[in-house]
Amino acid sequence: MLLKNRAVFSLGLRMCSTHVTAKGPVVDPGAPSSDMSEFRKTFSKAKHIAIITGAGVSAESGVPTFRGEHERWRKWQSQDLATPEAFSRFPSRVWEFYHYRRELVLDKKPSAVHLAIAECEARLKKQGRSVVVITQCIDDLHRQAGSKHVLQIHGSLMETRCLSCRQVTVNKRSPVCAALKGTGAPGSDVPDAQIPVDKLPRCDDRDCHGLLRPNVVFFGETLDSHLLTMVEKEIEACDLCLVVGTSSIVYPAAMFGPRVAARGVPVAEFNTNTTPKTEYFMYHFQGPCGTTLPQALAPHESEDI
Ligand SMILES: [Zn+2]
Repeated sequence: MLLKNRAVFSLGLRMCSTHVTAKGPVVDPGAPSSDMSEFRKTFSKAKHIAIITGAGVSAESGVPTFRGEHERWRKWQSQDLATPEAFSRFPSRVWEFYHYRRELVLDKKPSAVHLAIAECEARLKKQGRSVVVITQCIDDLHRQAGSKHVLQIHGSLMETRCLSCRQVTVNKRSPVCAALKGTGAPGSDVPDAQIPVDKLPRCDDRDCHGLLRPNVVFFGETLDSHLLTMVEKEIEACDLCLVVGTSSIVYPAAMFGPRVAARGVPVAEFNTNTTPKTEYFMYHFQGPCGTTLPQALAPHESEDI
């Protein structure tokens, strides 16, 4: 069974939003519980908590995710632009899209969800307990909220990577380069700025000067194997897992919660709707995670604080 699970996990290293039909074992064939006081008892005993977050958490801060029909940029959805092929053929257009997204994020503040997670990590640390955030979000809001232990499996909007020397650099400049200033407007009738490739963001290393790309994982690309090894350790070690604000359709992250559940470890899902993975989990709390999560992670009466 373990080998089978590993195979499913390994197959999912490439980021895609295709539904995978292979199913892991269902720990509890009954409907998940939505009993918060029961969850709180489990929470109070957990020593290593893994919190998997997705687009719904960014949405709590007003960050659009470009995943739905209504969240288009010009004529396109994220899946049309966030690909190696699109960047290779239309680097100016793809950079305009990411410039727009960077500027949007720079303008946003952490939400109640980000703050509750960061506060919980700091509080539990004093009790010898740990919290790790494994996030699909590419904004910087978990860190801005104060979370220290964050694994950004899909990369970061605020980092660039050189196509020539591969150097990854934190880059919060606004705009990311002079030529992108005033570009990136999202309206469907806005023409491409068609910035020459030598005016797009370039490597600061004078001997290199290679073209930079956003350090995010594009659709169809393989996730960073070093990072995935760290994620794997966390999901093997945790004794409680929360899956927050994710529709659980983007792989490999969609398998993390079910993998934890397959070990018999409690997993709690917090989302506005049920997901294809809800049936695997012990708990499901429906509603805006900005409402449900702070309640779930608040100090428990048994905590010595
Ligand atoms: Zn370089």
